[in-house]
Amino acid sequence: MKRIITIFGTRPEAIKLAPVVKEIEKRRHQFESMVLVTGQHDELLEQMLMVFQIKPDHNLRVMQENQTLAGLTSRILEGIDKMIKEYRPDIILVQGDTTTVFAASLAAFYNRISIGHVEAGLRTNDKYEPFPEEINRRLTDQMADYAFAPTETAKRNLLKAGISDRKIFVTGNTVIDALIQVSAIDKRETIDELPRLNDRMVLITAHRRENFGKPFMNVFGAVRKLALEMKDVSFVYPVHPNPNVFNMAHEMLSQLPNIHLIKPIGYLDFVWLMRRAHIILTDSGGIQEEAPSLHKPVLV
Ligand code: UDP
Repeated sequence: MKRIITIFGTRPEAIKLAPVVKEIEKRRHQFESMVLVTGQHDELLEQMLMVFQIKPDHNLRVMQENQTLAGLTSRILEGIDKMIKEYRPDIILVQGDTTTVFAASLAAFYNRISIGHVEAGLRTNDKYEPFPEEINRRLTDQMADYAFAPTETAKRNLLKAGISDRKIFVTGNTVIDALIQVSAIDKRETIDELPRLNDRMVLITAHRRENFGKPFMNVFGAVRKLALEMKDVSFVYPVHPNPNVFNMAHEMLSQLPNIHLIKPIGYLDFVWLMRRAHIILTDSGGIQEEAPSLHKPVLV
């Protein structure tokens, strides 16, 4: 019996690992499953865990106000190190490229514990974009014992980085598994307060660190212009809680009657909105993977 600890910290990781955790849980005779969350995005995470009915065994609650990347990284590293020493897993499983992924993998490596990396091999080849994710994923891929690549392109990136063929497994993208599971439910949970939407609806999300400041000012300026020109179109924007996004979005977009700034919403509701949207404007990695599966045009 192998003990697997699945570790995640943010909303997209929870979504993309939920179908994997469910599959591990089904194989009780083979695996003992534990779920550890770092709480890197605590409030966004809770919503997701509810949708997928995953109950974490531990939450490190590492989030602090105005945290630095270095502070966050070291709190996760220490926290996971302690957990690994206590529970002695055979494998830890991480997904993607957040600080949680990198720090958890480093803790596992220090303890000589095997690492499975879901969504291995993504690259832009620009170390500052996305920041710090590009370096998080490259370093995690180097430490991983099982590199689960979503595509053949990702596999080629891994081979180019010198990762051995026998460690690489092309699996597809687990966000599509999550999307299919949730699409089958097709219901709303929390956004009943949403005002009546016009027939044409544009769905917006924005959160990337590289876009803080001037880029977001440009994007929000363009959205404002579109909303003024097209009064019969509803613009729905679940605003990310990060103050760098939240304050500017509210300053620039809150006055127009056809722009609806709402709180981040649960995955069920978000999928419901994606299905209803005519086009999606986003800087999200996950949403640009999901939109085509729902046959929605997406502008990144
Ligand atoms: N999402 C959600 N509620 C929202 C906004 C996004 O459930 O209010 C989902 C979305 O469907 C996708 C994931 O969150 O699966 C994307 O997360 P995010 O944009 O934070 O991160 P990224 O994909 O860029 O890593």
